[in-house]
Amino acid sequence: TAPGSTVGNSAASRDKAFVLHPYTNLHAHETQGPMIIERGEGIHVFDDGGKDYIEGMASLWCVSLGWGEERLVQAATKQMRQLSTYHIFGHKSHEPGIDLAEKLIGLAPVPMSKVFFANSGSEANDTAIKLIWYYNNALGRPEKKKILSRQRAYHGVTVATASLTGLPNNHRDFDLPIARIIHGDCPHHYRNGLEGESEEAFATRLAEQLEALILAEGPDTIAAMFAEPIMGAGGVVVPPATYFAKIQAVLKKYDILLVADEVICGFGRTGNFWGSQTVGMQPDILTCAKQLSSGYLPISAVMVSDAIYRACVDESRKIGTFGHGYTYSAHPVAAAVALETLNIYEERDIVGHVRSVAPAFQSRLKALADHPLVGEARGIGLIGALELVADKATRTPFDPPGRAGALVNGLAQDNGLIVRAMGDSIALCPPLVISEAEIHQTFDRLTKALDAAV
Ligand code: PLP
Repeated sequence: TAPGSTVGNSAASRDKAFVLHPYTNLHAHETQGPMIIERGEGIHVFDDGGKDYIEGMASLWCVSLGWGEERLVQAATKQMRQLSTYHIFGHKSHEPGIDLAEKLIGLAPVPMSKVFFANSGSEANDTAIKLIWYYNNALGRPEKKKILSRQRAYHGVTVATASLTGLPNNHRDFDLPIARIIHGDCPHHYRNGLEGESEEAFATRLAEQLEALILAEGPDTIAAMFAEPIMGAGGVVVPPATYFAKIQAVLKKYDILLVADEVICGFGRTGNFWGSQTVGMQPDILTCAKQLSSGYLPISAVMVSDAIYRACVDESRKIGTFGHGYTYSAHPVAAAVALETLNIYEERDIVGHVRSVAPAFQSRLKALADHPLVGEARGIGLIGALELVADKATRTPFDPPGRAGALVNGLAQDNGLIVRAMGDSIALCPPLVISEAEIHQTFDRLTKALDAAV
């Protein structure tokens, strides 16, 4: 059958017959059908017609080392042969899990005590919520349970983490958010700053608004705040200067924990090993996933401070067990691949590489701010977004929202570039191994798509 064909026994027709797609307009998919990706090489993927695309999103912010990294294939194969799977419930353990935990503790941006493993970013954040509740029960503070998040945050899709996520489509008709989750302000200066307000003044105001929210809810009822260092799926929002210093001062004052969701920002993306280092976060809990294994296998991690770990030890002694864990927590093959990924980051100085190519990436990105469709070009390191607007001077969004984003997304694809439209923001988050020449190719293709959309 011809590539992309939806007749007969083609992959596309069987997709339509059998697959329920995540994050897809299911109605449109019934006519449109899928785009079948067949293979990957470096920063490129190829569809079933052989067409080449620069994967400008590293397959959902994941594939830091690009496709076809043979060392990860070897690490997986070796571990598959030796011990293909085993759990670590109770007192069982295995070296890939132990080695990876030790490595992560050594890399943590602030002193951390222990690592809990899960399989996805959602599971890591869901675990963090449970640990926070467990911790406060251990400390005899059963009322201190509410969790702060932010409008436009993205923390996952489980019942609890979709509730933390601050995007309407993740709540609507799923009967979310659950109770005890509160959404505060999004630190997007371009959209939420007042006329003439500096970034620092905006950050001060956000901290004041956070404090007012905490006082209105009752500080003794608030356990923690979740934050991505740079918001990703909410449109790549880089917080204003001084934001986290001011936010953290408020949290400290009311004994509220901070969780850094490093699922996108971790492992060099922002030009430091952790996004927390880029924005000045000192988290009590850190969650990570995606680039932990260059996306090659599903694995995520939750790192906790000693105070949290100690409280959990006490509580589990009282109860008789710490009643939480996934069958595949620290899956040995995923752990071996993650460990090899971290070794490669070190050996190839991935952070140094990001710092060396980020100026080219950011200058090409920010030059697009002059394009007639672009209201704001924002980013840091190797992550960025363009916000498309109907009127640059007044920052008026397109109506209906999302149509311009979808148009540019499709035109980029026609020009051999995969980006991600989040409403009318177009995100770029390429593999970290991208070269400067490939950055220019990426932006050449994106510019063609934007020009075609005018
Ligand atoms: N947290 C952040 C910041 C994310 O970007 C994502 C996914 O994009 C998640 C959590 C959820 O991760 P997963 O899709 O692996 O469950």
